[in-house]
Amino acid sequence: MKELYKIKEVDVRRVLGKSRLADYVINPYIGCLHGCIYCYAEYLTRKIYGVREEWGRYLYVKKNLTKVLERDIEKTKRGRVILSSLTDPFQERYPIDLGEVVEILLKNGFKVTILTKSAMIRDVYDVLSLNSGNEVGTTIVTLNEAWKKIEPGAIDPYLRLKTLGDAPSNVDTFLMIGPIIPYINTHEDFVRLLKMAKEMRVERIYLDKLRSKPGLLSKMMKFYREIGIEIRRNPFQDTDYFQRVKRDILRLATEMKLEVHALF
Ligand code: SF4
Repeated sequence: MKELYKIKEVDVRRVLGKSRLADYVINPYIGCLHGCIYCYAEYLTRKIYGVREEWGRYLYVKKNLTKVLERDIEKTKRGRVILSSLTDPFQERYPIDLGEVVEILLKNGFKVTILTKSAMIRDVYDVLSLNSGNEVGTTIVTLNEAWKKIEPGAIDPYLRLKTLGDAPSNVDTFLMIGPIIPYINTHEDFVRLLKMAKEMRVERIYLDKLRSKPGLLSKMMKFYREIGIEIRRNPFQDTDYFQRVKRDILRLATEMKLEVHALF
């Protein structure tokens, strides 16, 4: 029988890398079992590591993560570290002790940002709250049922927001609405999402749009067929749609007194 998931442990030589999202990044895994169809990490992981497995079906666990991290930070200038950019740092099928990683970073004067679609972030809330200036964020594409096809391995987006709402008071929270996938959300869907973000006291919201990458168009067309939406044009090129949605969200955010930053 074909293995559903391929999980294995690997040793790495470096764990702290440079990042455009913060000063540094730590990716505790190679691959991600959340398997989001829009994931840009799929393409980059294939390019960097040459992995040819199906995205969302493999996970390589960096077994010597903490040991290498302690060595990596010795000669590194202090700054902000994001977990993660090419994977979700919390993988339910093979969890690792991220509390230890966060503790090492905080003890050594780093600030930490965690971006996740998992409720396991709760396990590190206590450690994160030891110092001020740390942040947690989550990503939501839609609150409607389509999320199950878009992010098959992640938890319900309502739970993601609820988890964010339970973050300690000295940990900042942010929500990434994105990527905005054309035609799957109504105006009411965005109203619900922003209202819930307000209720959960999310401090900042970012908006980003679906961007093209090799192989994504055919995946998106399959997804649209599966949910019964007929597509007559390339959704990546529907500039009018993206601009209309952006205006709508910015207007709603102003009415609700929410801080929103559009990244397109
Ligand atoms: S959770 Fe993030 S890294 Fe994992 S598949 Fe989804 S978008 Fe990619």
